[in-house]
Amino acid sequence: MISNKMLTLVQNSSVIRAMFEEGKRLAAIHGAENVYDFSLGNPSVEPPAEVKEAVVSIITEESASLVHGYMSNSGYEDVRDAIAVSINKRFGTGFTHENIVMTVGAAGGLNVILKTLLNAGDEVITFAPFFGEYRNYVNNFDGELVVVAPNTDTFQPNLEEFETRITAKTKAVIVNTPNNPTGVIYSEETIRELAQILEKKQKEFNTVIYLISDEPYRELVYDGVNVPYLTKYYRNTIVGYSYSKSLSLPGERIGYLVIPDEATDAKDMIAAANVANRILGFVNAPSLIQRVVAKCLDSEVDITVYNRNREVLYNRLKEYGYDCVKPEGAFYLFVKTLEADDKAFCAAAKKYNILIVPGSSFGCPGYCRIAYCVDHKTVEGALLGFQKLAKEYLA
Ligand code: PLP
Repeated sequence: MISNKMLTLVQNSSVIRAMFEEGKRLAAIHGAENVYDFSLGNPSVEPPAEVKEAVVSIITEESASLVHGYMSNSGYEDVRDAIAVSINKRFGTGFTHENIVMTVGAAGGLNVILKTLLNAGDEVITFAPFFGEYRNYVNNFDGELVVVAPNTDTFQPNLEEFETRITAKTKAVIVNTPNNPTGVIYSEETIRELAQILEKKQKEFNTVIYLISDEPYRELVYDGVNVPYLTKYYRNTIVGYSYSKSLSLPGERIGYLVIPDEATDAKDMIAAANVANRILGFVNAPSLIQRVVAKCLDSEVDITVYNRNREVLYNRLKEYGYDCVKPEGAFYLFVKTLEADDKAFCAAAKKYNILIVPGSSFGCPGYCRIAYCVDHKTVEGALLGFQKLAKEYLA
């Protein structure tokens, strides 16, 4: 009796979640310590201590009706003000609370902005490999996701193809940097070029094309690499941010959208995003955790664990004969599978109790994703299995 649309969605439902279930099954048989589960982007590093301190101080010191009550559908004004000030300080922008809409994580934010923008049949472009849920989010509002093929040498976006895929129906482009699943950060040169193409195509078609920057991994960066702030390069940029990874709070469901004044029809978009938050059923982002993040704007998770995992996995996998681009951010490695069928390769890895996700889940078959947001002992424990797996193919 469920709807036809949901029937298809349930059938295609996430391979990543299925892996998670498989991990639980294998742990019951072999013991959790002998299963190397690299399937989910669930942060292994604890939230910073300031998060707990903020929770305690807010619930003991602030008025209960303020903390637990309804507020504007865009979120508490003082929280949005504090976030705007923090962004301005870091990136030299000029936002106020008016430009910030608090959301239920990045997923909530993307759904809100797509609800705000899309008419049925509008096209949204993204670059493979991409976070597979984009397809569902765009489909929620009867848009068409257009996928640009990957540039597998660097995993920077393929801008030549991008230019040819923009049409009069293109309403938005979603980019994600640092990227899930590659860990690649789009260079400033790439961003400038992408912005130039968008400007040119807006003129050519006499349309407005919004650039949606989905950036839950902004703070997870290694070796001091710069992550450009995209509103500074293209005026029709909307930023979708989340604290799921940067403060290790994925279950709390908190993030925000930035809709800059200089974006075309900004006032209407802000008003519509406010309504979208309500009518999508979020109403507003969770109240307590809004107040918490406002007190933790300068806090960071300790990414040395991820960095150590990154170095060890990258170096050892290369040594065993695997091929992959060294990630500069996020907590994923995107590795070329040693047979063309990425699903078969990930199934073969299970023999060694290693759980990894096929690249086809990210629109990029022939690769697999290793989420290294795990304890270091999981990485160490899996190395022998990765080596044996490589030997099966390369011997
Ligand atoms: N966008 C990307 C690229 C992600 O990797 C994720 C989660 O893994 C999300 C969005 C959703 O994040 P959130 O938990 O903030 O909804």
